Amino acid sequence: MSTNRPNPFEVGGEWLKCALHTHSTVSDGTLPPHILANAYEEAGFDVLSITDHWRIAEAPSTDRLLTIPGAELGFDLRKPAYPRQPAEFLVWGIDHLPEDPGGDKDNWMFNAEENWEARTFPSLSHGAAWAATMGAVVYTAHPYWNQLSIDDIIDADGIAGIEVFNGSAEEEDGRGDSSVWWDAMLASGKTVFGIGTDDQHYPLFELGLAWTMVRAAERTQEAVLDALRHGQSYFSNGPSIHSIESVEGGVIVECSPARSIRLQREHEHGTNVSVGRGGRRMGAILATDGNGLITRAFLDCDPNPVYRRVVVVDETGARAWSNPL
Ligand SMILES: [Zn+2]
Repeated sequence: MSTNRPNPFEVGGEWLKCALHTHSTVSDGTLPPHILANAYEEAGFDVLSITDHWRIAEAPSTDRLLTIPGAELGFDLRKPAYPRQPAEFLVWGIDHLPEDPGGDKDNWMFNAEENWEARTFPSLSHGAAWAATMGAVVYTAHPYWNQLSIDDIIDADGIAGIEVFNGSAEEEDGRGDSSVWWDAMLASGKTVFGIGTDDQHYPLFELGLAWTMVRAAERTQEAVLDALRHGQSYFSNGPSIHSIESVEGGVIVECSPARSIRLQREHEHGTNVSVGRGGRRMGAILATDGNGLITRAFLDCDPNPVYRRVVVVDETGARAWSNPL
């Protein structure tokens, strides 16, 4: 996939730290919307979308925090693995929700005790088509956590991407990393982008477990949605990526101190540089910090991959993921 997509590390604009999947007391979260907004603002976020289950929470933007109306909605699976198996997507930039989205009512649920409900569209494509009528942006939510089959999402129309890393799912039961689904879609030739989120319900445990850095032309809802639509972003649960540059024979990555930088591709292909035990050099370390961790590296890559994306791993094992280059 050689793309003419702008490189988010080279275009103008600013980096905005975004919380794109969060819950408030409007569904099954534990903080009211305006208190939740205060918490994200104080934690240094620039953008918050409260994505309650089948409800639109209202939290006005402040001078420092841009809020974007969103929700977490559901769709029917073709071949559920078990009865009423949930499947969800995230949507941002909406102004209403459909009373009857048209899915199988046997899959709808209402949980008064936990204050959430789920309705479904007949498919992910139906959900995305509804969202498109408002210019809203759709990413599939936590496919590993929901145990989706790749067949349930790989040919969906109108989705911009996939929630690749969900911090609270990772904490809850180790099912937060959906990279396998992402790679399957990318290897099939689809252009889909990734996000990382905290899926916060309990701020004490979950706020800031992962986030998405969006390169936006300006600090507005339209600019953030546009960046998400076109993959002008990367996501992380720790490290920062400062730049990624395509050069003859590979890519050059600059990042916060890392023990490993990988370039992942289709099939079993890929390269990495790393330090420490088993340190491997399929490329070259170009700069390190005072502790021998990598801050700049060259990674080999054949000239015509189906896709390529970068993962930076820091000393603690936390990661930052680029979109396909
Ligand atoms: Zn959620």
